[in-house]
Amino acid sequence: MLFLIFLILAIIIFNLLFKETRWDWNKINLDSITFPKSFIWGTATASHQVEGNCKNNWSEFEKGFKNNGKPNIKDAQISGLACDHWQRYKSDIELIKSIGVKHYRFSLEWSKIEPELGVFNDEALNHYSDVIDELLKNNIEPVITLHHFSHPIWFDKLGAFEKEKNISHLVSFCDKVFSHYSNRVKYWCTINEPGVVAIQGYFTGMFPPGETNGQKAGEVYKNLLESHVQIYKSLKKLPNGNSVKIGIVKNINQFDPWNRYNIFDWLFTFAMNHVFNWAPINFFKTGKLKFRVPGLIWNSHINKDAVKSLDFFGLNYYSHNHIRFNPFSKDYSDLMYKKNDIMTDMPYTIYAEGIYRAIKLVSKLNLPIIITENGVADKEDSIRSEYIKKYLFAVSKSIKDGYNVVGYYYWSLMDNFEWAFGYDMRFGLFEVDFKNQKRTLKKGAKAYINIIKTQSNE
Ligand code: BGC
Repeated sequence: MLFLIFLILAIIIFNLLFKETRWDWNKINLDSITFPKSFIWGTATASHQVEGNCKNNWSEFEKGFKNNGKPNIKDAQISGLACDHWQRYKSDIELIKSIGVKHYRFSLEWSKIEPELGVFNDEALNHYSDVIDELLKNNIEPVITLHHFSHPIWFDKLGAFEKEKNISHLVSFCDKVFSHYSNRVKYWCTINEPGVVAIQGYFTGMFPPGETNGQKAGEVYKNLLESHVQIYKSLKKLPNGNSVKIGIVKNINQFDPWNRYNIFDWLFTFAMNHVFNWAPINFFKTGKLKFRVPGLIWNSHINKDAVKSLDFFGLNYYSHNHIRFNPFSKDYSDLMYKKNDIMTDMPYTIYAEGIYRAIKLVSKLNLPIIITENGVADKEDSIRSEYIKKYLFAVSKSIKDGYNVVGYYYWSLMDNFEWAFGYDMRFGLFEVDFKNQKRTLKKGAKAYINIIKTQSNE
């Protein structure tokens, strides 16, 4: 009896404390969104997704098949030439300029710069130097990501992030590129989405190396977060270290219980939030990392240097899921969608309230926040305009409510290789015809361009 009362009380408290915010969009005027004039507008890409001709852990994975005989990438697609951004960066920078953004976030392809351990390729180093100069010539601030999902095959062979001692290889690479570009590049992102690399790579098996091992996933997750701290410390000691801004890029996934009166749905929702969202934020707040979902994923780690290792927080936001406890599924839960959810082409819903909640959550760190990615896969280009306006409404509301959001980068500049989904997912502001590499501005992108135009200084 006492237990039952306790359960009922717990459910009431959870319902009160953890609300699933829903705004009445009929009462919101999406045409009167305002931003401070200093707000930074940008767009983003990642090397493996756009450059073409990458030989790295992903290109290897693209050739492979899962145990059930299915290809690792949808319909066995390969990244191949991708958007040929490597050759076409000058005309792509013209496109970036044409939409009015002032920041371009892109990643350095480690496998091109350091194809063998300790061997650096001058052509690749010069290439990125030229990209940076071209951006600056066009008044666009380069924002570099040091690790965006892809890395050299030699690093993989050494065990990549499964081994803490391998972090030093990434730190040396970062030191090297920093010494080349930090005189011109002010914004640096260390690791893109550590939780995704660890969980998709080692738990669901959707990303390389395609493993399904909770213990390894936990170790990789910890090592990626630790990598950030070590890179930060190392770069700060180099010339220009103190004048640049260095942050991590972390996605926040919004989880809510499928049935708000089911204690198991609540417990699994907490478990997901704890691993994906709360534990890493707590690491940066306290220096203590601890996540524990028994039998699934667990680890703990202490590094007090984590506490002052961020000049800004790079927030990626895409998805909202309802969690239903399922004792028969491998991870004891199913990701669910409600009848009224507006779906995008990815298994994500449109839930702009979620970016507001994510901003509120990461604001605990008291840091400037840059939305380093947010965007929609929408092949028909039928919901992009609404998506952009709703999410930017939520961001503008967060600023008015006192949260320190300083910039927003739409993902992505152009359609590109969307990892395990191949070329089917169309996130771009520009459509890419992969037969002839023609870029065409999408109608839906105009919502973004208009907001930038009316809200910028110039
Ligand atoms: C990644 C991008 C990806 C995007 C859309 C993020 O997780 O950083 O590389 O394309 O999501 O799925």
